[in-house]
Amino acid sequence: MKLETYAIHGGNIVSDTEKPVVQPITMSTTFVHQPESMIYTRANNPNRKALEQLLAGLEKGVDAAAFSSGNAAGVAVFQALEPGSHLIAPDDMYHGLKNAILTIFKGVLEATFVDMTDLEKVEASFRPNTKLVWVETPSNPLLKVTDIEAVAKLAKEKKALLACDNTFATPVFQNPIDLGADIVMHSSTKFFGGHSDILGGALITKVEDEFWAKVKNVQTGGGAVPSPMDCYYLCRSIKTLPYRMKGHAEHAMVLANFLSNHAAIERVYYPGLNEHPGHDIASKQMTGFGGVLSFQVKEGAEAADKLIQKLKYFTNATSLGGVESLIERRAAVEGPDTLTPQNLIRVSVGLEHLDDLLEDLDQGLK
Ligand SMILES: *Cc1c(COP(=O)(O)O)cnc(C)c1O
Repeated sequence: MKLETYAIHGGNIVSDTEKPVVQPITMSTTFVHQPESMIYTRANNPNRKALEQLLAGLEKGVDAAAFSSGNAAGVAVFQALEPGSHLIAPDDMYHGLKNAILTIFKGVLEATFVDMTDLEKVEASFRPNTKLVWVETPSNPLLKVTDIEAVAKLAKEKKALLACDNTFATPVFQNPIDLGADIVMHSSTKFFGGHSDILGGALITKVEDEFWAKVKNVQTGGGAVPSPMDCYYLCRSIKTLPYRMKGHAEHAMVLANFLSNHAAIERVYYPGLNEHPGHDIASKQMTGFGGVLSFQVKEGAEAADKLIQKLKYFTNATSLGGVESLIERRAAVEGPDTLTPQNLIRVSVGLEHLDDLLEDLDQGLK
């Protein structure tokens, strides 16, 4: 079955004798005791089961675990590690997860943050107790591209797991499991939800091993699970994911070209551009370049803020992956410790008409 077909049919586990075409929402927190029945919604629920089945198939894994946020999904992986384990993660890792490692897991896990595009540095970061390598590609907000296959090879040699935050690419454009990853992580809040109205996260596994059993225990025992409503809405949103992603990527490519030819712009970061340092690897491991781009404004942070204020169709708000275009000066959001340049603007390119988006950027930059 092709991706577009699976996205529409893969989340249906309807067992109702009335045969509704769409999976009903099962709000009940508890189930009549029977040999085959579910027991309690924190442990499992028909809508979560449908969502997890859908996600596992989309990412070419064997099982999935849905969470109440992307951070809850990421943290579940760290919680499943033995205390005293070492992990290697990107120096530009999603700041919320990097903060979680540095605060919640302080004194529990050891971590090295490294430039994942520099394979020698990655290799030199391994320690005897390294149990996990975490990659995020394309990364947030510089759209750095990590060679998943190459890092997977290093991790395998050292008997460490490889997890990949696939939020920016989505399974429409990239399947980390096919490239050697053991676990795929998503913030479903972004492109999966796609309408800026659902918070969620997910993990997908290549194999059902001892580590995955620990992850599932964190999910159901820790209890950071999504509601039946959230699961229902995610299944519904994912039906259009392949078409939305094509639109996002098509629009982002045009805007990236427009911006890179504009005199007021210093530099554009989008993996689809030939001059992007990760373009070759992205072309090898992705079938599309995604819907997020960043750029630096020549005249600095103040000029960047002024541009954002002048725009009509790009809403000045954080997050990404929704049908509406969102824009923000990233360093202002990430705080004083950020490595992100002060004049860098991140855009989540939406599905408004391309002419309107181009016209708006053009007037904003005048
Ligand atoms: C948003 C995001 C997260 C965190 O997800 P939440 O749903 O906000 O908890 C993790 N990784 C990436 C790449 C993200 O964009």
